[in-house]
Amino acid sequence: MSKFFKTSDFNRILRQMYPNKTLAYSMSKKKYSSNSQQHQNPKNNFKSKFNETSTRFWLLASCAIFGPIFYTLTTPTLPKVEKKKIYVDTSPTVEDSEPAEFTKSKLPEEIVKTSTSKTVIKDTVVDNDGRKEYPYIDYILVGGGTASFNAMISIKNLDPDAKILIIGDEPNSPYQRPPLSKELWENKEQSKDFDFNAWDGTVQSIFYKPESFFEMVPKLSAKTSSEALNLKNVGLLKETRVGKLDLKKSLVVLENGYKIRYGKVLLATGATPKSITALAKLGKNENIQTFRSISDFKKLEEKLNTSNKLLVIGGGFLGSEISFSLQKRNKNEKDNAKTVHILQVFPEKGLLGLLFPEYLSNYLTKKLVEFGVEVKTETKIESVEFNKMSNDFKVTLENLNSKKKEVVQVDQILVSAGVQPNTDLARRSGLEIDPNNGGILVNAELCARTNVFAAGDVCSYYDEVLGRRRIEHYDHAVKSGILAGENMVGLSVRK
Ligand SMILES: Cc1cc2nc3c(=O)[nH]c(=O)nc-3n(C[C@H](O)[C@H](O)[C@H](O)COP(=O)(O)OP(=O)(O)OC[C@H]3O[C@@H](n4cnc5c(N)ncnc54)[C@H](O)[C@@H]3O)c2cc1C
Repeated sequence: MSKFFKTSDFNRILRQMYPNKTLAYSMSKKKYSSNSQQHQNPKNNFKSKFNETSTRFWLLASCAIFGPIFYTLTTPTLPKVEKKKIYVDTSPTVEDSEPAEFTKSKLPEEIVKTSTSKTVIKDTVVDNDGRKEYPYIDYILVGGGTASFNAMISIKNLDPDAKILIIGDEPNSPYQRPPLSKELWENKEQSKDFDFNAWDGTVQSIFYKPESFFEMVPKLSAKTSSEALNLKNVGLLKETRVGKLDLKKSLVVLENGYKIRYGKVLLATGATPKSITALAKLGKNENIQTFRSISDFKKLEEKLNTSNKLLVIGGGFLGSEISFSLQKRNKNEKDNAKTVHILQVFPEKGLLGLLFPEYLSNYLTKKLVEFGVEVKTETKIESVEFNKMSNDFKVTLENLNSKKKEVVQVDQILVSAGVQPNTDLARRSGLEIDPNNGGILVNAELCARTNVFAAGDVCSYYDEVLGRRRIEHYDHAVKSGILAGENMVGLSVRK
């Protein structure tokens, strides 16, 4: 008895599978049946079978049933490129859901006990003088950026019922800034919606969540009643600046005078780009800009439609990224013919010269020059004059070694000369500012005063290993935001 798979076995199996004749069966019979059988009965070939009505019926049925299966099996599997827009939410623990669907994570007992948001349940609180009522919110996050967003996520994960209000002065919901100087310049069409192609092939949005995620709080004024701020979950108050904190009464005071009482408050006000002295005397000029926000991106993009020569001042990360990205766009645009000459000027010996060793900095400079950007190293901007008639600038440059001067003409200037932390609000509130690095002084738990926390670019925190520091980086904004959120809820001892 043979254990090998033979043609006859195959035919038998086919016949059992398809008791009536199918194309597959017919074909298999033709292919696999012994030649002898066909030779014995030459008329009984495929053509004559095809003429039989039943065969024709089964032919069509087989095509209908097996065609798609065959197509599926034989089509090569292409790498899956997700084209659905993704909202990037950097928190590792967040549920990607509408606020109402936040999973009620089981809170460790000690958190429930220490969570002060549970102790105050009134929506409005009468002021000490008994005359004014202020709306009460468990957690107020000042600044609508990365640190605030991540604090909100960690608070929600630990205290799902908490009412949280994010107050930001930008017209957008929270978003990530890094793509503004990189990926968003790659595809004009996509960047209209602030989408970009991420390194993993997905199309992402720079916004962490769609606007529908937040309860949009209408503009508040000193006269708005406290009922107007009746939040159910996570509220977002846009285009609104916080003026100060009243630490004694636990109040957030908006610049327009409206007051909200907080359980805990986070200051995550980020940083503002600096300018340079040579530009100061020109005052506000439409063709000079810094670069930090979506509005700055829109402005630069619009200006480049008419600009011929852009001066980028600064040799750090941001200036170098922008020079590279704009030159890349120039190259992509070569057929459309609208290109902008880019001149980058900075006092260091090479790109990122304050951060990288000299050989690496030199290498990067060489690469950027080869790419088509005009770079002037070890050069300072001595003076800038604006010509109203020709709507352009006469910029005097000085080489720091040779002291030689030269004058260049540009019609657009982008200053990327570092940032300073936004501490005005903290100063006005009586909080301590680090005299060395300029940030809001907080301890290792990111706490400045009782119930007052700070995170992100603006905070000067104590690192148990590395000592006091302030960091202007994305990852830090994410992590310090998460930590601040956890500590605000009351998880003071982290596992
Ligand atoms: C173009 C660009 C590219 C970058 N690329 C990188 C990168 O590749 N890698 C990296 O590590 N870092 C990068 N960074 C830095 C990184 O984005 C920041 O470190 C990070 O955004 C800091 O987050 P934050 O929440 O502290 O502050 P922000 O994101 O600046 O948010 C603070 C918000 O608070 C608002 N605000 C300030 N004062 C008030 C007030 N009184 N009332 C209400 N709102 C107020 C501000 O307007 C702002 O919207 C980049 C930055 C920029 C601008």
